Amino acid sequence: MKKKIGISYSEMLFDNYVNWFTPADLQNDLEIVILSFETNNTEDIYTCDGFILTGGIDVHPSYYDGDTQYDNRPASFSLNRDLFEEKIYRYSQIHKLPVLGICRGMQLVNVLEGGKLVQDLGNGNERHKKEVTDKQHIVSAVKDSLLYNTTQQLEGAVNSAHHQAVDPSALGNNLAVNVFAGDDNNTVEGFEFADKSNKGFMLCVQWHPERMMEKEHNPFSQQIKNQFLSAVRNTNMKKLSIVNPATEEVITELVQDTKESLEQKFEVLRKNQQQWSAVPLAERVKIIQRFSALLDENRNQLAAVLTSEVGKPLQQSRNEINGARARIKWLSESAEKYLSDELMTIEDGLKEKIVYEPLGVICNISAWNYPYLVGTNVFIPALLAGNAVMYKPSEYSTLTGFEIEKLLKQAGVPETAFQVAIGGGGVGEVLLELPFDGYYFTGSYKTGKYIYEKVAPKMVPCQCEMGGKDPLYVTDDIADIKNVAAATADGAFYNNGQSCCSVERIYVHEKVYDQYVDEFVKEVNSWKKGLPTEEGIYIGPLSRKEQLNILTQQVNDAVSKGGAVLTGGKKTEAKGYYFEPTVVVNANHDMQLMKDESFGPVIGIMKVKNDDEAVSLMQDSEYGLTASVYSASQQRAEQILQKVDSGTGYWNCCDRVSAALPWSGRKHSGFGATLSHVGLRSFAKPKAYHLRG
Ligand code: NAD
Repeated sequence: MKKKIGISYSEMLFDNYVNWFTPADLQNDLEIVILSFETNNTEDIYTCDGFILTGGIDVHPSYYDGDTQYDNRPASFSLNRDLFEEKIYRYSQIHKLPVLGICRGMQLVNVLEGGKLVQDLGNGNERHKKEVTDKQHIVSAVKDSLLYNTTQQLEGAVNSAHHQAVDPSALGNNLAVNVFAGDDNNTVEGFEFADKSNKGFMLCVQWHPERMMEKEHNPFSQQIKNQFLSAVRNTNMKKLSIVNPATEEVITELVQDTKESLEQKFEVLRKNQQQWSAVPLAERVKIIQRFSALLDENRNQLAAVLTSEVGKPLQQSRNEINGARARIKWLSESAEKYLSDELMTIEDGLKEKIVYEPLGVICNISAWNYPYLVGTNVFIPALLAGNAVMYKPSEYSTLTGFEIEKLLKQAGVPETAFQVAIGGGGVGEVLLELPFDGYYFTGSYKTGKYIYEKVAPKMVPCQCEMGGKDPLYVTDDIADIKNVAAATADGAFYNNGQSCCSVERIYVHEKVYDQYVDEFVKEVNSWKKGLPTEEGIYIGPLSRKEQLNILTQQVNDAVSKGGAVLTGGKKTEAKGYYFEPTVVVNANHDMQLMKDESFGPVIGIMKVKNDDEAVSLMQDSEYGLTASVYSASQQRAEQILQKVDSGTGYWNCCDRVSAALPWSGRKHSGFGATLSHVGLRSFAKPKAYHLRG
């Protein structure tokens, strides 16, 4: 893929910036991306290899503690633009990516580095402020500066169109002036980093190289552009490819986090977490509810992004967003009840109370199968409880991670309370090294076990929500076999079977077995399969290519041990990660299919003689997430479920989660709980107060 130059959008003469880069400049390896505060496309920032911060309206004086009233101040400022461009600049510095600051762009860099501005040039406006056209004047470069080395000129003519300037007596941290206005030797016309070690390329100029006269022949335009282009071409960031599982096309490439960038993000969270926890709980609740409203407003676009990267059918993506909103509703409405101080005793001048303090900065390493749901389980209660959060979406659902980040910030969660870590297992490894106050993992048993062992010496909370091999038992007293077959098939195949609580193995009483299997297969064959972007599709592609081999292997193993495939059984020929929904009968517990997590559209069905046999088979698993019984009798179902060691039991339902109930696993499915009051409180440390007075 081509490297990308992100140009920040300006309402003023923006085309000049884009047109400055000719086809000859860009060749076949570079392209322009417009980064606009108007569309707030922050997600595109993470795809860029270099940035241009452009001219335009004055930076808001709050950025440098300046007066809001001054000569030539604009009719209004654009704080949204300042905030958006601040994000671009901070990002460029975390990753040491090249930056070219032009006019306002230069002034913004100065204030972001802690410097100040001259708010109005006064007499200087005669020489610098644009009237009908830009003004022209001479500049003098500082010998041996990067600017001088770039242009090879000590003096030259430039244009200008500004009424503000960088305050030479209040230059930002580590900035050095590299060129002054030739006529007064005081107006700063450009700067660069003083100490360039450990920094990316940066040149900032007060003039407009993109639109100056004779720009192709003026080194103060042409050479600066060339130097910037070469810095962009020389970047060497590790990229994460985001692939559409339905088409196998690369959607985009993202700059991955490095150890250094993660350390910086962590420091931001660490330094500012207490500011977030000082926000009253009622206000945090409002912010989180605004986030939920934004999910609703943007549902279709969010669903399209989710479907593009994980391949789930559009309607299922929309359902997922609705599901996340239902969880947020419960969590946010219950937060004050369960996180406020609790007065336990008042007697004889003694008060005893519990205060729920946030843990601090927590790390949320997440999975791709339901990024909105499994994310919500963790970062929502964590933020409600006053924690700062480092959220690592799975490498297979990073674009959705960006959408989540964007909307949380839009809702009012400060930049400093929520950061996203970009990358795969390697990036996760670095997070394990950092001194977080708690780890909340959702993913496979293998990774969870590794993480638990790795962070154990830190002696901080570590919760793991991991895989499952969830059993379902159909007893002989069910009334409507057809409906039960349809509901349980949905429990096994919804989201292509890629749910932690998908039904993974089915036991059927021998009296209803034949009819159940018949109806089950009919139901599976009735589903529409195909491109997940088409409405009405129930089965789309799998999210991960590797899973195709695992499923093929499980089916082959089952067949070699006596299993019979009634429908499906293989990968489809079409492009994309499609596997036919597969039903295997005559299953037994020697087969991988009945022991190992399938996490795909494959189900094994086994005939049983009675409840005792069903219980012993249901129990025969290393996992313990959920278990389900279909029966006319609640008592019979509960008696069975009590004997199965799982975090959740279902009677006449399956594959469902409720925000009011704890979501927790047993054995290799995990420990700790999210959701419910138990989950809300797992992001807080209780402090006991004994108050006598
Ligand atoms: P995974 O274990 O491959 O990855 C999960 C996360 O861990 C990802 O963000 C990944 O980048 C990160 N990671 C991988 N190696 C790491 C390392 N060495 N150090 C730190 N981080 C590392 O799991 P997955 O494929 O994303 O998710 C599927 C699994 O998640 C299934 O087993 C499913 O059952 C389980 N899951 C469980 C629940 C639950 O609530 N119990 C919910 C959803 C998914």
